[in-house]
Amino acid sequence: MAAIAAEGVVMRSVGALYRVRLPEGQLIEATLRGKLRLQGLKTTNPVAVGDRVELLSEGGTWVIAAVAERHNFIARKAVKASSQVQILCANVDQALMVASLKEPFTALGYIDRFLVMCEAYHVPAVVVFNKTDLLESEKELGRLDDFAFIYEQAGYPVYPVSALAATHQAEVLALLKDKVSFLAGPSGAGKSSLINLVDPTLQLRTGVISTHTLKGRHTTTFAEMYPLAFGGYVIDAPGFREFDLVNIGPEELGGYFPEFRKLMPGCQFNNCLHTHEPNCAVRAAVERELLADTRYHTYLGMLGALQAEQQK
Ligand code: GDP
Ligand code: ZN
Repeated sequence: MAAIAAEGVVMRSVGALYRVRLPEGQLIEATLRGKLRLQGLKTTNPVAVGDRVELLSEGGTWVIAAVAERHNFIARKAVKASSQVQILCANVDQALMVASLKEPFTALGYIDRFLVMCEAYHVPAVVVFNKTDLLESEKELGRLDDFAFIYEQAGYPVYPVSALAATHQAEVLALLKDKVSFLAGPSGAGKSSLINLVDPTLQLRTGVISTHTLKGRHTTTFAEMYPLAFGGYVIDAPGFREFDLVNIGPEELGGYFPEFRKLMPGCQFNNCLHTHEPNCAVRAAVERELLADTRYHTYLGMLGALQAEQQK
């Protein structure tokens, strides 16, 4: 029987099985051709959500025969302290960090690390603070303003929203329309709720996963892509607890903080690590409070980890 060829986009992968969306919207399940699997030498997944693939059908079974060249991708370390990478998504237009100040409180370091990962892969990023309906006191609302300021100052668009109160629905819809958006954030911050708010036809399952059930789980959480009824796609990446950067040199790190990057030409040394060097423009800006000390603090933490790794 002759093979039927088709093209499609990978929507989800679980183990060796891939769900692929054909141009007309039909979803099919496919496996990888053995030869292809071997090419993904240093990645745990040679094919990722968002990949455009060529398919063959032989006797009713679909096989992924080729992967189109990616125009971009985001990856992280598959396992701590290993050189294997896990590709989280491919061919995306933007990445959204969906965070919340309450239930759960999202640490700024977590947001910063995600943003560094996006910078490292040249993917434009946006910060969404969901659950603003839970902020009541002056102090809580003031903190939201402070956090929004930190990321705006760093150069990121910030969206304070509430999926529950359905505020800023139009803005979120406009943000996602006709784009491929990678959504990440801590479990429970409201990614699924936000997606459902803008596209109620999707009806993603929502609800807090108890920490008890999370404990027993490994990193086998799978990203899944959904077509939006109004145009575009979202990739829902469930509850990452951390984003381990794929091997970058300590001297590269500053360049992944956009507000540092702007100042760095003013440092006396072009290999300045912005820690102890004289006439460092980044440190001067921190001292003058022109640059958020939370961002600088994350930078120092990440730098220390990269340097420790290099010495191994
Ligand atoms: P995900 O893990 O990021 O996908 O989070 P979910 O969308 O599953 O939401 C986790 C919990 O938070 C659910 O019980 C939601 O009903 C609730 N939730 C989501 N968005 C909001 C919001 O804007 N305000 C409040 N108060 N609760 C929300
Ligand atoms: Zn410097």
